[in-house]
Amino acid sequence: MENSNKWVFISGGSRGIGAEIVSELAESGYNVVFTYKNSRENAIALCDSLISQGKQCTAFQCDVSIQEEVNELADKCISLFGAPYAIINNAGIVKDSLFINMDQKAWLEVMNNNILSSYLINNAFLPHMISQGNGCILFISSVTAFKGNIGQVNYAASKAAMIGMTHSLAVELGRFNIRVNAIAPGLIETDMSKALPNSAYNKMLKQIPLARVGSTKEVAMSASFLLGPGGSYITGQTLIIDGGMSA
Ligand code: NDP
Repeated sequence: MENSNKWVFISGGSRGIGAEIVSELAESGYNVVFTYKNSRENAIALCDSLISQGKQCTAFQCDVSIQEEVNELADKCISLFGAPYAIINNAGIVKDSLFINMDQKAWLEVMNNNILSSYLINNAFLPHMISQGNGCILFISSVTAFKGNIGQVNYAASKAAMIGMTHSLAVELGRFNIRVNAIAPGLIETDMSKALPNSAYNKMLKQIPLARVGSTKEVAMSASFLLGPGGSYITGQTLIIDGGMSA
């Protein structure tokens, strides 16, 4: 298959959107490498299932907010597979509360998991992608970067930072034939959205013109499009996948 000599790194592939992107890209023939932090059983089950279907997949435990762990894993991946074709910065958490009640711990936890991780991952792999002379970087941001959400000031700031990284990295890396884009999902059915209080979930649902929650598959197909030939002249952009919530 055309993509079989390309490998893709995905942070946080053990559940939700990340797991669906892992499956979608493996189905498209890519050699997929993903990280997990706590969900070891999910990660192994996903890998085993893909490998049993003849797909290429490897999972590594790595807390992507910790520099030593990211650098060690990046070195291992480079020695096993060479430079990645694509990096997908997907791992993320929420620690919601009203801003006036938001302590520094909750602020830093979200920043470290959601945006410091993106710095660490890209910083570790980019020199190798630049030498290779092609590649893609994708950020899984959020519609919350553009549309205010009560209780999510820390999360919104981390997701807006991803959009800023997308623009500046796209401009820096175009000359190396590396494209950089972001996807900003709205309300997508995963553990993260299921953890929202019912009142907040229902309020968001009412703001969606398509009147339904989105599926992980709908996000994963867009990720695959942006990495593939359809995305070959797209860089520095954000694709909002929110059923019209932000329209
Ligand atoms: P989930 O909570 O379902 O899954 C989060 C994933 O991130 C898990 O695989 C988890 O791994 C991993 N992860 C979190 N922190 C770390 C870390 N420090 N190191 C390694 N892995 C980590 O989230 P979703 O699938 O819903 O979200 C995925 C991305 O999409 C996030 O960035 C989120 O902000 C974004 N998003 C989600 C939306 C939604 O409605 N669901 C909407 C907009 C954006 P493990 O379980 O192994 O710990």
